[in-house]
Amino acid sequence: MSVNRNTKETCQSKMTLLEEILKANEAFVKNEEFKAYKTDKTPNKKAVFLTCMDTRLSELATKAFGLKNGDIKQLKNAGAVVSHPYGSTMRSILVAVYALGVDEVFIMGHHDCGFGALKPDPVIKEMKDRGISEDTFNTLDHSGIDVRDWLKGFDSVEESVTETVNNVKNHPLLAKSIPVHGLIMDPETGKADLVINGYEKVEE
Ligand SMILES: [Zn+2]
Repeated sequence: MSVNRNTKETCQSKMTLLEEILKANEAFVKNEEFKAYKTDKTPNKKAVFLTCMDTRLSELATKAFGLKNGDIKQLKNAGAVVSHPYGSTMRSILVAVYALGVDEVFIMGHHDCGFGALKPDPVIKEMKDRGISEDTFNTLDHSGIDVRDWLKGFDSVEESVTETVNNVKNHPLLAKSIPVHGLIMDPETGKADLVINGYEKVEE
């Protein structure tokens, strides 16, 4: 059953999350804390990183490499995957390369990935429990959209990173001179293992 969790939460506490973050924002600006983050649009390290949206990686994914605000372009999605050649993640990588001064691409998955372990059936059940009708699923099915397949995670993070690196590297619109690296991070320690060294596959 989908009793509105947020409403319940709001009644119990004084401040909603929205109010809380807007209040913090007001103080941040007033105290000029932004000065510590001053940078520009061009990444100092000329790189774009695609990592997972896992909460443990929010800061770890950059701090563990000694990267600071402004050093790289950061992209995040569930699982750090590029599964659609003309989806918004691939478009962002291409924009980073051709319009925002990026010369290298890093794809970084991680161990214990929530998306990797994702099973579509419980997610679909949850959607239905929250009011998405059977009709909607039928309509999508008739339009050729396989929701089960679309929601499927991966069995091996090594395979997933390799597949995404290959999808990006072999994209018809990516210049052959751009290296695409593959890494896997341990979300507990920040230790990164190299899966693919993109310099070895670069064609000038
Ligand atoms: Zn993940």
